[in-house]
Amino acid sequence: MAVLKIARLGNPILRRVADPVDLAELARPGGEIQGLIDDMIETMYHENGAGLAAPQVSRSLQIVVLEVNQNKRYPDRPFIPLTVLVNPVITCYGEETELGWESCLSLVDFRGLVPRSREVNVEAFTREGEKVVIEASGFKAVVLQHEIDHLYGKVFIDRMTDLTQLAYQEEFEKYWMEPETVEI
Ligand code: ZN
Repeated sequence: MAVLKIARLGNPILRRVADPVDLAELARPGGEIQGLIDDMIETMYHENGAGLAAPQVSRSLQIVVLEVNQNKRYPDRPFIPLTVLVNPVITCYGEETELGWESCLSLVDFRGLVPRSREVNVEAFTREGEKVVIEASGFKAVVLQHEIDHLYGKVFIDRMTDLTQLAYQEEFEKYWMEPETVEI
């Protein structure tokens, strides 16, 4: 396994629509796709991300990984088990939306207030090639929307409705964070 370099905003690969993964290639034991998934998980852990999409490691493929387990960047967030999704599609967005602060490994110094659906349904394949349907709400729904957006060339600032609520991390901590949500 290897830690891969993160593509940052300005790299055109982040703005491309990613290619679907060939499920026959996914199924090949020890194949390139399985190796990429392992490297993405390693990279997500190394960078303390809650999720990572393949375009963020300069691979234009429809793969996302997510996990939240005592995450340093999101210490007050609920547990999300390690999840690998191949060719994920959001099939339903809940009507109700909520504003939440997001960051991104590709825009690592920034935080922005982003409206997201509270609930989403996602259809995808596991790394074993099994079809899954996920009904997610709360923070998991936000992470799924954020990561799957990357597969369509979108980053969180594209979803913001008020760019006065975009801040550098340091200023976010100074001016915007509630005292009870101070990160440790
Ligand atoms: Zn991101």
